[in-house]
Amino acid sequence: MSDSRLDRLRGELAPLDAATFLVTHPVNVRYLTGFESSNAALLIRDDRVLLLTDGRYAEAARAVEGVELIQATRDIAPFLGERLAEIVDPPVAFESGHVTYAAYEALARSGIELLPAAGVVERLRAVKDAGELEAIRRAAKVTDAAYERLSKEAITGKTEAEVAWWLEAVLHDAGADGVAFQPIVGSGPNAALPHHHPGDRKIGLGETVLVDMGAMLGGYFSDCTRTFATGELSADLWEAYGLCRDAQTEALEALRPGAAALEVDALARGRIRDAGHEVLHGLGHGVGLEIHEQPRLSDTSDAVLASGNVVTVEPGVYLAGRGGIRIEDLVIVGPDGPEVLSSFTKELVVLE
Ligand code: ZN
Ligand code: ZN
Repeated sequence: MSDSRLDRLRGELAPLDAATFLVTHPVNVRYLTGFESSNAALLIRDDRVLLLTDGRYAEAARAVEGVELIQATRDIAPFLGERLAEIVDPPVAFESGHVTYAAYEALARSGIELLPAAGVVERLRAVKDAGELEAIRRAAKVTDAAYERLSKEAITGKTEAEVAWWLEAVLHDAGADGVAFQPIVGSGPNAALPHHHPGDRKIGLGETVLVDMGAMLGGYFSDCTRTFATGELSADLWEAYGLCRDAQTEALEALRPGAAALEVDALARGRIRDAGHEVLHGLGHGVGLEIHEQPRLSDTSDAVLASGNVVTVEPGVYLAGRGGIRIEDLVIVGPDGPEVLSSFTKELVVLE
């Protein structure tokens, strides 16, 4: 169990005017205690931590140090609703972004005062400790190795789906415990669709091929996008590649503690818009125990970057019906500036 993480969360109780914090998001339970389960809850008070889970996980939960185990039923909210008044002090802050309306109703039957609190543990998770940074560096190396393999592969004539399946195997071969998400392979006009689902389209000559993939290793994720060419590109796609790369470089250089996420996003956004293209998505997102987490880099983000954040920087330039380019690096916001974890080249690589 991580005492420092629990203590950081305890520090949030007073500002919320809460005596107890109820954590129900499984990823947040894992972050705070190391306990991995699809169904668990924590009740955190100043002096004790109660861990609730059902019978399937009870044996594993007994190994978690520093918590008192309460074996609950499969549906934890009604179980808590009947007992909350006996086992904790009110008011109870709960993760309003992760509790369904039905679960809230069940908890409310306790008669205890419930305080909605959104994104509290997520904000703590956004600042990684040294061990987490090391895990993410390792996951990023796996993705780099997969891109090295891909760069030696002939893909013209294969379908996007074939390449995507092959990349999953390559990520496993390179040491991943799993994939962060199904790899995206978008070719030709499909490369203009930021989150294209790889399909039966055969990759042709003279196209952009957008590949977005990530590895999961030791519970942590990596995320990286590169865009390849199959033979010579048309002038507009070639120009778009240079634009995307320049926008990415400019945004990367602006990543430092104290920078407003919105302003970093605006650098790339402005450059792409000035060149006459529509911007279809935000600049990036945090990465850690989840593939999309805090802080977000977008035109609506209120995040201020801090040392220890891990974010992607992934501007895209999309030419509807013709092709598209996205370049995505995974980056640690270091005390003195960015530490770029993605090492595969950003020169345009031509695949056969
Ligand atoms: Zn990605
Ligand atoms: Zn991403």
